[in-house]
Amino acid sequence: MHNKTRVRFAPSPTGPLHIGGVRTALYNYLFAKQHGGDFILRIEDTDSTRFVPGAEEYIQEAFDWLGLPFDESPTKGGKFGPYRQSERKDIYQKYVNQLLENKLAYIAFDTPDELDAKRLEIQNFQYDASTREQMRNSLTLSDEEVKNLIDNGTQYVVRIKIEPNIDITVNDLIRGEVVINSSVLDDKVIYKSSDQLPTYHLANVVDDHLMEITHVIRGEEWLPSAPLHVWLYKSFGWKGTMPRFAHLPLLLKPEGNGKLSKRDGDRLGFPVFPLEWKDPQSRETSSGYRESGYLPEAVVNFLALLGWNPGTEQEIFSLNELVKSFSFERCSKSGAKFDFEKAKWFNHKYIQETPNSILAEMFKPTLAQKNISFEKEYVPNVIGLVKERVNFVKELWDQASFFFVAPTSYDEKTVKKRWKAETPAQLSELVHVLQNIDNFSSEHVEKEVKQWIENKNYHLGNIMNAFRLAIVGESKGPHMFDITALIGKQETIVRLEKAIKEISVPENN
Ligand code: GLU
Repeated sequence: MHNKTRVRFAPSPTGPLHIGGVRTALYNYLFAKQHGGDFILRIEDTDSTRFVPGAEEYIQEAFDWLGLPFDESPTKGGKFGPYRQSERKDIYQKYVNQLLENKLAYIAFDTPDELDAKRLEIQNFQYDASTREQMRNSLTLSDEEVKNLIDNGTQYVVRIKIEPNIDITVNDLIRGEVVINSSVLDDKVIYKSSDQLPTYHLANVVDDHLMEITHVIRGEEWLPSAPLHVWLYKSFGWKGTMPRFAHLPLLLKPEGNGKLSKRDGDRLGFPVFPLEWKDPQSRETSSGYRESGYLPEAVVNFLALLGWNPGTEQEIFSLNELVKSFSFERCSKSGAKFDFEKAKWFNHKYIQETPNSILAEMFKPTLAQKNISFEKEYVPNVIGLVKERVNFVKELWDQASFFFVAPTSYDEKTVKKRWKAETPAQLSELVHVLQNIDNFSSEHVEKEVKQWIENKNYHLGNIMNAFRLAIVGESKGPHMFDITALIGKQETIVRLEKAIKEISVPENN
C-alpha cells in the first residue's frame, strides 16, 4: 500500500458529464481530503471513435464551478503526468509487451467474421480457456506463423489469458468481499494493433498503478470489470500496491426503476448535467444546474446525500463538514432515487444562507436588462425581504418587481374584494397621516398608522389590504411597513395618490 491517499476521477470525454459522474467525483474528493490526500483528474480518451470535442473543457469548467479543485490534472499538471491517456501511448506498449513475454497474454488474429462464425457454432461463445485452443492465436500457431502474420501487416489484438477456476476476490469498501470465479471471465482484448492503443481496461489499471492510486472510487457499472482488473494487477505482479475499490450505488430515476437518464430530466423538467451543454454535432442544448440557477454549494450538498447518509437528521452540510463526515460505511449498496424537489429545497436553503450583497450581484443582470439601477444598499435590502419566498435567484424579480417599478395596473380580484366605497377617502386620510411622519422606519410607521386606524375605529384588514393593493398592485409581498420603509415616504405617498385616482370603486362595494 502507498502511504499518501491518492484518488482519481477518470471520465471518458464522450459528451457532457452526467450528474452521476459528478457525484462519483465528489465522493472521491471528500475521501481524498478527509485523508489529506490527492484528487486527480485523468482523462480516459483512448477510444478515439467516441471522443467529443469540448467534453474535456466542459469537465474542467464544471469542477471549477462546483469548487472541487483537482490537485493534478491535464491543465494543472503534476509529477505523474501526462494526465490524458492519449498522450501515454508509449507507456502502455511496454506493459502489453511485459504480459506477452511472461505468457500472461497472447496475440489473436481472429477476424470479426471468424468470431461471428464461432458464435453461431457455439452457443454463448466466450473467448476463454475452453475455446481459445480452437482459435487463431499465438497459443495455437507456431512462433514463425505468428511472426509472418505480423510482418505481413495482419491486424491483431492482444488478449489477457485468464486461467479458469480460480477465485478472484474483490475487496469493495461498500459491498464487502465479492468473490468471482475466473471461469466466468473471458480473455478480454487489452490492446489493438489497428490503432496501436490499449483498451480501457489495460490503460486504466496501468495508470492507477503508475499514478500510485490508493483507492478506486467509481460507479457501480464498473463492478463487473473489477475482477478482471484484479487479475491484471496480479499478472503484472503489483498485487501489493493494488488500490482498494469502492463501487458507488446507481442514481435512480425519480419514479419507477432504472438509471437516471437525460430523458427523465427532459420529461420532468430538471437538468442532469452540471453545466449547460451544446452538442457540437446536433447543436442540441441540454440544460445545466448552473444555468438553471443553482448555487454550486447546494448542488454539492444535494449530491453528497444521494448514496451516503450521515446517520443523523442533519441535511445541510458545508463542504468542510462533508469532508469530515463522509464514510464508505454509510454509503448504501442499493441505488439512490433522484429527488428533484429536494434539489430545489437545497437551493432554497442555500439562498437563505447567501449574503444579500452576493445575491444582489447575481440579480444585477436581470435589473440591468430592465434598465433599472438603484443606490448600492437598496437591492440587497430588497432581497433580504423577499428571499425566503424563492428557490432561485431568477425568481426574485417576480417577488420583488414592485420595489423597482410602481404598479401600472391593479389586480382585479383584489380590487373587487378590497376597494370599498369608503376606501379612497380613508387612503387620502392615510396620505395625510404619512405626510406628518418623519421617521419612516418600519416600526415607527406601523405604530403611527395602527394608532390612526384605532382612533378612527376603521377596519384594520380593509385598510391594510387596500394599502397593499395601492403599493404592490396585488395582495402579495412581505410585511407592509417593511416595504414602505424601503421604498420611502415620497414613493409611498405617490403610489397611494395614484391608486386613489386610478382605481374606481366596483359596483356593489
Ligand atoms: N473511464 C471510465 C469511465 O468512463 C473510468 C471508470 C473508472 O473510474 O475506473 O467511467
